[in-house]
Amino acid sequence: RRAVVLFTGDLRLHDHPALRAAIAGADEVVPLFVLDPAVARAGFAAPVRQDFLAGCLADLDAGLRERGGRLVVRSGEPAAEVCAVAAECDAAEVHVAAADSGFGQRREDRLRAALAGAGRRLHVHDTVVTAVPPGALTPQASDHFAVFTPYFRHWSAQRLRDTLPAPRTVRVPDAVGSAGLPEGGARGAGEGAARRRLSAWLRGGLGSYGTGQDDLAADATSRLSAHLHFGTLSPVETVHRVRSAGGPGAAAFVRQLCWRDFNRQVLAARTGASVADYRTRQDRWRTGKAADADADAWREGRTGYPMVDAAMRQLAAEGWMHNRGRLLVASFLTKTLYVDWRVGARHFLDLLVDGDVANNQLNWQWVAGTGTDTRPNRVLNPVLQARRHDPDGEYVRRWVPELAAVPPGAAVHEPWKLPEKYRKGYPAPVLALSDGLARFRRARGLH
Ligand code: FAD
Repeated sequence: RRAVVLFTGDLRLHDHPALRAAIAGADEVVPLFVLDPAVARAGFAAPVRQDFLAGCLADLDAGLRERGGRLVVRSGEPAAEVCAVAAECDAAEVHVAAADSGFGQRREDRLRAALAGAGRRLHVHDTVVTAVPPGALTPQASDHFAVFTPYFRHWSAQRLRDTLPAPRTVRVPDAVGSAGLPEGGARGAGEGAARRRLSAWLRGGLGSYGTGQDDLAADATSRLSAHLHFGTLSPVETVHRVRSAGGPGAAAFVRQLCWRDFNRQVLAARTGASVADYRTRQDRWRTGKAADADADAWREGRTGYPMVDAAMRQLAAEGWMHNRGRLLVASFLTKTLYVDWRVGARHFLDLLVDGDVANNQLNWQWVAGTGTDTRPNRVLNPVLQARRHDPDGEYVRRWVPELAAVPPGAAVHEPWKLPEKYRKGYPAPVLALSDGLARFRRARGLH
C-alpha cells in the first residue's frame, strides 16, 4: 500500500500528523512538495522567502534521506501534480494538513475533487500552522474572536494535543520522478536550524524576554518568525517547550505566540481582511504625487525621523524588522503620513523573510485602526517611542550612518536640533509631527 503526503506550511518531520498517519497506514509513502506558480503570479513569491523556502526543502530532503527516503518536488498546479504523483505510484490515499487560508482552502477543494474523480481518498489532518486551530474557539455570538484579550484567555485554558516524534524510517517508492530541489537556499533555514535556534533561545534568550522584548538595540527577540511561517517549527511543540522551560519570560513569549493564532482565526473567518478593511473607519487615504513621494521616503528610510528610517533600512538590509519597529513605521505611514495601510503591507510582504498574509495584513490593520485594535485612533510618536525603546540611540546609529557620530544618548532622535556637523547628508523631516497628527484627527473626525 502506498500513500502521498503533501507538505505545505509544515516543512518538518517532527510533530507532523499527516506524515505519521500516512506512514502508519501504508508500506511506502511519497513525501511531496509542489512549487505552485500561482504563488508568484499572486505576487507573494518574494526573493527572500523563495530563498528561505529552498533552504527548508533542502533540509527536509536531507532529513528524509537520513531516514531512508527523499523529498519529491514537483512544479505546477498542486491538485493536478498530486493526482499525477498518486497515479505514478498507485497510491490509494493522500494526506495533508487542513488548510486555514482562503488560498489553502481552494487548493484543498480542488484536490478533493480531483482525487475523488480518480477514485483516491483525501485525508485532511489537524492544521499544523497554529497551536489552536482557527475556529476551535468561538465566542457565543460570533464565528471568531474580534478582540485579543478574551481570545488569549480562552486560548490559554485550552489543552494542546501532545507532540508527535519524527518518524524513524520513511520508505519512498522508486517509481516517482522529482523535478529536484529549487536552486539556492538560505543558510539558517530548515527544521534543523529551527530546532537549534529554539533550543538556544530557551537556554539563553527567553529568561529576559519579558523585560527586553522591546529593547531595539539589544535585539533580544527569538527571530523564530520565519521558522513558524514555513512550519519548520511546530507551534504546538514550541508552546509546550516554552511552558516547560518556564521562568520570567515564558508567559510573555507564549502571549506573542498566541497573537499568531489570533490573527489566523480572524483571517480564516474573514478572508477578505487580507485586502479590505476589517472594520472601516471611512478613511480617504491620501493619494497623488505628494503622497507617493512621502511613501517613497518611507520605503527608502529617508523620512528624517531617525527611528523610522533605521527600522526601514534594517528591513531592506535584513528582510526582517523588530516588532517595535514594525509598529512604529506602520503607525508613521498610516497615521502620520496618512497613506493607505495596503501600501505599507505590500512593501513588507515584498521584503520580509517572515512575510505572512495573516500576521502582516492584520497587524497592519491593527496599527491603522481598521483592524482589531480597541484604540483605533492611537498614534505613536516616533520621538517618544525612540527615547523609550532606544534610549542611547544605539539602534539608530547602527542603521543610519549619517548620524553615527552623534554621541550616545537620546539626542540622535531629534537631529534637527543638533549642529549641522552631526547630521551631514541626513534629510530634514518630511513633515512636522503636529501637522501629521492634525491631519489625521481631521480625517477621522476627531476634535
Ligand atoms: P518574538 O518577539 O521572538 O516573538 C515570537 C513569535 O511570536 C514570533 O516569531 C511570531 O511568530 C509571534 N509574534 C510575535 N509578535 C507577533 C504579533 N504582533 N503578531 C503575530 N505574531 C507575533 N509577523 C510575522 O510573522 N509575519 C509578518 O508578516 C508580520 N508582519 C507584521 C507587520 C506589522 C505592521 C507588525 C506591527 C507586526 C508584524 N508581525 C509579523 C509580527 C511581529 O512583528 C513579528 O512576528 C516579530 O517581530 C518576529 O520576530 P521574532 O520572531 O523575533 O519575534
